[in-house]
Amino acid sequence: MQSERTTEQWRALDAAHHLHPFTDTESLNQQGARVITKADGVFLWDSDGNKILDGMAGLWCVNIGYGRKDLSEVARRQMDELAYYNTFFKTTHPAVVELSHLLSQVAPEGFSHIFYTNSGSESVDTMIRMVRRYWDVKGKPGKKTLIGRWNGYHGSTIGGASLGGMSYMHEQGDLPIPGIVHVEQPWWYRYGQGMSPEEFGVVAARWVEEKILEVGPDKVAAFVGEPIQGAGGVIIPPSTYWPEVERICRRYDVLLVADEVICGFGRTGEWFGHQLFGFHPDLFTAAKGLSSGYLPIGAVFVGDKVAQGLAEGGDFNHGFTYSGHPVAAAVAHANVKALRDEGIIDRVKHDTGPYMQQRWREAFGGFAHVDDVRGVGLIQAFTLVKDKATHELFPNWGEVGTICRDIFFRHNLIMRACGDHMVAAPPLVISKAEIDQLIDTAVQCVTECE
Ligand code: PLP
Repeated sequence: MQSERTTEQWRALDAAHHLHPFTDTESLNQQGARVITKADGVFLWDSDGNKILDGMAGLWCVNIGYGRKDLSEVARRQMDELAYYNTFFKTTHPAVVELSHLLSQVAPEGFSHIFYTNSGSESVDTMIRMVRRYWDVKGKPGKKTLIGRWNGYHGSTIGGASLGGMSYMHEQGDLPIPGIVHVEQPWWYRYGQGMSPEEFGVVAARWVEEKILEVGPDKVAAFVGEPIQGAGGVIIPPSTYWPEVERICRRYDVLLVADEVICGFGRTGEWFGHQLFGFHPDLFTAAKGLSSGYLPIGAVFVGDKVAQGLAEGGDFNHGFTYSGHPVAAAVAHANVKALRDEGIIDRVKHDTGPYMQQRWREAFGGFAHVDDVRGVGLIQAFTLVKDKATHELFPNWGEVGTICRDIFFRHNLIMRACGDHMVAAPPLVISKAEIDQLIDTAVQCVTECE
């Protein structure tokens, strides 16, 4: 948006009229918001002309990078042709048909049906209603409880925030809602001392089994997890975790759901995170990389078994005015096609991902307070710890991370502090030279932090 205003004027108006998400308004207003005015590739510019390397792809979403004129052209054409129509009441339109066809091709076999939403949170809420409806139709109406994980993130709606395991969200608004319970996250560094990661993966999966038995298998509808916990700090489970969780879910007739809102569309080098770990969810949720953030759109990929079950039940009384919005669908189609046809995800898997992981491990391995240096594809993290030998964390979880993040910010590098986990998830189009720049700047900042 063009404007003649100065940074100070933007800040004053923002403070006067805009309530920000996940923000302490008083401290923001003292400090003043950073005003981002344009973006291209992996870079942002603020209203003072600073060029900023976006190591987080916005909020883990701009997979294809900023400034793709082909996507804006698709949006413009679609707006001229059919800016809006809904997909309720036995109606459809070409944009949503083409997108659904393409998504069924890039999804693993057995996912031929897609339900559209406007965000990851709506996808999660939709999934909650779907799994409960599925069990009703199947004559098991007692199966209503969903199991999520502590420190998982599934969005901000009442359903998503309940299913997520962020206690600071539960504290506001009496969450979780009934019918949602949690198990501990598969974080080997913290909970797996004395075990190999592989042994710990099985132990952590058994926590899911214990919870199913505690609630009663006839009451459990689904287990839901991010293949890699994103906002929880890039917790990459040991290779044994997901296959064991899958065996447990099958044993007790519990649906298995992957929340692919961050992992989906190439972040890990695979199209979807569950493919990296080799498990087979019954449904999976998506958003973010589906349109690379160019327009809001989310989706639930419904496995054939569940889709068939829902169809047997007649009307599924759920949907949004903008489910399958034509402009968002057209842009998502162009985005997914580009991710596929330009080999962007293949490059993450075979080239830039391995390059970043290697450089990341080398660069951060030697710091006194940096440990658990980890990553896959283009999602990387390390944890700021008090004592590497004992794995002791700093006492006020998140305090050191925030200080470190602010230093990064001052150096015009955006990385995220999830507690004391420092995280990078850049656009998937990042070049090796830009990876070097990201890591070199981050090293300089961590040196300053220490
Ligand atoms: N699920 C996961 C795994 C997420 O990471 C997020 C957002 O970060 C969501 C759901 C919620 O998505 P949204 O913010 O689009 O509602």
